[in-house]
Amino acid sequence: MSAWREYSDCCRISAQDPEARRCGQCGAPLLRCRGFDHCLMILAPHGHCPVHMDPQLLVVAGTRLVARADEELDLNLRLVNPEKARAPLRISKVHKIEGNGEAVAIPISWSSLRPGEARKFPVRAERFGSGGRRLLTLVFEATVEIDGHEESYAFEGGIELDVKGRSDSNVNLNIHASDGARVTAMASGVDQAFAESLECLTEDLSVPLQRADRFELQRRIRGYVEDGLRVLADVELFWRGFPKPEEIPGRNPDQPFLVQDRFRLGRNRIGYVDTKHRLPSNDVCLRVYDPTTGAQDAKGSGEISGTHVELYLQNDRLMLEVTGQHGLIHNGKRVEQGHRFPVRDGDVVAPGSANAAPYLRLRFTFNDDGRVVRRIMIDRF
Ligand SMILES: [Zn+2]
Ligand SMILES: [Zn+2]
Repeated sequence: MSAWREYSDCCRISAQDPEARRCGQCGAPLLRCRGFDHCLMILAPHGHCPVHMDPQLLVVAGTRLVARADEELDLNLRLVNPEKARAPLRISKVHKIEGNGEAVAIPISWSSLRPGEARKFPVRAERFGSGGRRLLTLVFEATVEIDGHEESYAFEGGIELDVKGRSDSNVNLNIHASDGARVTAMASGVDQAFAESLECLTEDLSVPLQRADRFELQRRIRGYVEDGLRVLADVELFWRGFPKPEEIPGRNPDQPFLVQDRFRLGRNRIGYVDTKHRLPSNDVCLRVYDPTTGAQDAKGSGEISGTHVELYLQNDRLMLEVTGQHGLIHNGKRVEQGHRFPVRDGDVVAPGSANAAPYLRLRFTFNDDGRVVRRIMIDRF
């Protein structure tokens, strides 16, 4: 079995060998970032690459983080995609959450940050009503594309605001700061002096961001919202019911899905590389056999493309892409070539042609621990 475990130095050394699937010393599966050549990162199954995906949020110098209870407070923020990311960062949505309130989408006038690019945007905090410390949380939906493959995540960061009620005579500031940004003096109890004497940041203030796991699930950014599950890169695949043992993965049948991998299923035998169509070897061979004699059915097999289906992981979901020209039947419905969809527990697929469909079906069964899908059984029947 191949459950992932925390990496050690031995794993980072082993990962430098591009052929190594596991650490030569401790045996841990090496889950490389798709952009490993650039970032040299091996990832936790639930993790994102901290080099390729590293948005940074700043409160811009000059912004005030102290407010009066009866005012709306405008904050100037800046989001940065560091140069080292080397990949554009697409921001599809920004939300604000005031206190324990609902997430409210806020408009931004841009959607993409090139490596090294920074963009400003304003956020207005509503009237507070009474004094005290208030948390303004910002949530970003961000997508990174590495090597043609997109992954989306949500990140959140909290900015603490100090709201001065009418009776307050002192104002205190407490900012979640990861750097030494200072805030100018405060401590005025006099209302009209408030706006002039308090408040403005003298330099940019960094707001630490972290993954917003629950938000990712609820907003269908990652995982399966209906059952609250995620399929991660260390999921184990079991292939059962194949008539010929050589048709299931030549690699370990229980090998984890490695992040950079696609599993290819089709008529071509495992190990055959189709140079004409530039198709790498299949991982699973799909052919049709006569149910009585066991002999290969040339007609049925011929309606299965060299590579007919590809499985891959994206956004903590098992995805299926139909590459075969005859398409696929998915839970009784036709899916044409080129389409892709998330596979769910209990799904049944078959090639989309009359001579193959009745004799070759695959059922996907998920085994989960309530949070993560640990195993996926793929039964041919
Ligand atoms: Zn190791
Ligand atoms: Zn990376």
